[in-house]
Amino acid sequence: MEAAAPRSLVILGATGSVGRSTLDVVAAQRGRFSVAAVAGGSDAVALAKAALASGARLAAIADPGAYAALKDALAGRGIEVAAGPDAVIEAALRPADMVVAAIVGTAGVAPTYAALAAGRTVALANKESLVCAGGPVMRAAAAAGARILPMDSEHNAIYQALGDAPVERIEKMIVTASGGPFRTWSAEAIAAATREQALAHPNWAMGPKISIDSATMMNKGLELIEAHHLFGVPAERLDVLVHPQSIVHGLVSFADGMVVAGLAHPDMRVPIAHCLGWPERLTTPARRLDLAALGGLSFEAPDLVRFPALRIAISAMRAGGAAPTVLNAANEVAVAAFLAGGIGFSAIAELVERVCEAMAGAPSAEPGTVAEALAINDAARQKAGEMLGRLGLTS
Ligand code: NAD
Ligand code: MG
Repeated sequence: MEAAAPRSLVILGATGSVGRSTLDVVAAQRGRFSVAAVAGGSDAVALAKAALASGARLAAIADPGAYAALKDALAGRGIEVAAGPDAVIEAALRPADMVVAAIVGTAGVAPTYAALAAGRTVALANKESLVCAGGPVMRAAAAAGARILPMDSEHNAIYQALGDAPVERIEKMIVTASGGPFRTWSAEAIAAATREQALAHPNWAMGPKISIDSATMMNKGLELIEAHHLFGVPAERLDVLVHPQSIVHGLVSFADGMVVAGLAHPDMRVPIAHCLGWPERLTTPARRLDLAALGGLSFEAPDLVRFPALRIAISAMRAGGAAPTVLNAANEVAVAAFLAGGIGFSAIAELVERVCEAMAGAPSAEPGTVAEALAINDAARQKAGEMLGRLGLTS
C-alpha cells in the first residue's frame, strides 16, 4: 500500500508553550505531517528556529518591527518571510489540512476566524477567540462546514467523552480545575501573592497569561464560556470541579445517569496528539496512567469567595450578550498590568468586575460579527485602562 500523503499543518503561535508542544508531537511522527506555515508574535529568533525545525514554507510574525530580524535569521533558507497582523492571517489561510490556533489572547480572534470562515479544520487552543467572539466564530465555522477540534485539555476530554450524544441528553458538562497555586491559601495570603508565586503552577508549564488566569481561576471561567460555544450547552448545565491532581480533565453526565470522563497525566501532548491525528490515534511518550500507583483522586467544589474571578466569569456567562467579550478584554488588561508589576493580585478580579459593571448597560447585545466583538473588546480595554488610572491601581 502507498504511504498516505503527510497531513499539512499551519501552526499559529508556534513559539509559545502549546506551539512548541505541537512541534514536539509533529517531530516525533516522522513523515506523518508537513508544516505549511508558522506564525508568532514578536520573537523573531524563536520563530526562525520553529520554521527551520519544522521545515515550514512560510514564517509570519505579527510585529512589523521584527521583520528584518526574521529575514536575517532565515536568509538563504528558502523560507518565505512576512510580517504584520495581515501576514498572520495570510499564514492562517495557507492551504493546509489543519490549522493549530495557539496564539494567546484576543490577538488570536482574527486569524482563527479567518481559518474557520475559509472552511479549515482548526485545532483550537486559543480559548479567548470563543470568549470574545464565540457567536460569530461558531456561526462562521458552521456556515463554512469547518470542523473545530478542541485542544484545551478539558474540552478535548469532553469532546472524547461525548461520543454522538445530542446536547439534550447531556445533564451536566464539567471542566475540572487544579485550583492553581493558591488553592489552599487564605484570602489574605492570596491578596498579597507575588508575580512569581502566581506564575508557579503546580501541574502545568504554560505561558504567562494562562498561568495567571489559572491562579485567579479566571481560566476556568473562560473555559466554561468556551465549552458553552464549542458544545452548545446552556450555561446552567456547565460546572467546575476542583481536582488538584489534574488527572481527570473533563466529564459528561448523561440523562441515563452515566458519567463519562477523560483521564490522562497533565501533559498537553495528549490533547495535541488527539487533535493532530484525529480521527486516528498517534503514539506519544506521555506518561502512562497507573491508577493503582496513584491510589486516590480528590475533588472539591470551587471557592467563589477566595476566587472572585471565577464568580465574575460565571455571572458574565449567565448574562450573555456582550458580557463575555467585556470580561475577556478587561481580564487581558488586568493580567498584563499585574505581570508588569502595576497592580496587586486581588486587583485583577477587582478591575474586571468594575469594568463589567460599568459596561453592563451599553451595548449589551451579543456581538453579531467579529468586527462588532473586536469593537466591544477595544471599548472595554479603554475603559479598563481609564479605571486603572482612576482607581489608583497603577504603581
Ligand atoms: P504562550 O504565551 O506560551 O504563547 C503564545 C503564542 O502566541 C506565542 O507563539 C506568541 O508569539 C504568539 N502571539 C502572541 N501575540 C501574537 C500576535 N499578535 N499574533 C500572532 N501570534 C502572537 O501561550 P500558551 O500558553 O501557549 O497559550 C496559547 C493559547 O492556548 C492561549 O489561548 C491559552 O489559553 C491556550 N491554552 C494553553 C495551554 C497550555 O498548556 N499552555 C493549555 C490550554 C490552552
Ligand atoms: Mg484548559
